Amino acid sequence: MSPRHATEHWMRLAARLAVRGHGHVEPNPMVGCVVLDRDGAMVGWGYHRKIGGAHAEVEALKRAGAKARGGTAIITLEPCTHHGRTPPCVEALRTAGIARVIYGEKDPNAQAAIRTRRPRVARHGCAARTSRASS
Ligand SMILES: [Zn+2]
Repeated sequence: MSPRHATEHWMRLAARLAVRGHGHVEPNPMVGCVVLDRDGAMVGWGYHRKIGGAHAEVEALKRAGAKARGGTAIITLEPCTHHGRTPPCVEALRTAGIARVIYGEKDPNAQAAIRTRRPRVARHGCAARTSRASS
């Protein structure tokens, strides 16, 4: 698989995970996340299960554990940068040693970017629309 093809594959999986939260997370967005190790193998996955619960990234990182170090996180929505009900996910991603973040949609609630060192975040501009659509 080419890198771009692989990204789309994982983004589609993340979107499928996201819709599992349908009916439980509103008015928050549905979010899905896949964590790949440095070789591109999936080592973690998660989705936002219920309002006030762990964000998709946190759940995926917990599954991945130390394998997340140097890896990639593919998320349907831009990781949050603000302290709401839970600490910001960019912080969790950084702490886990994630080297690269690819997300589908921009967070409509994004606040000013936090000033800490954080992983390189790239927007992958396709295939993630389902994070807000019903399945
Ligand atoms: Zn978050």
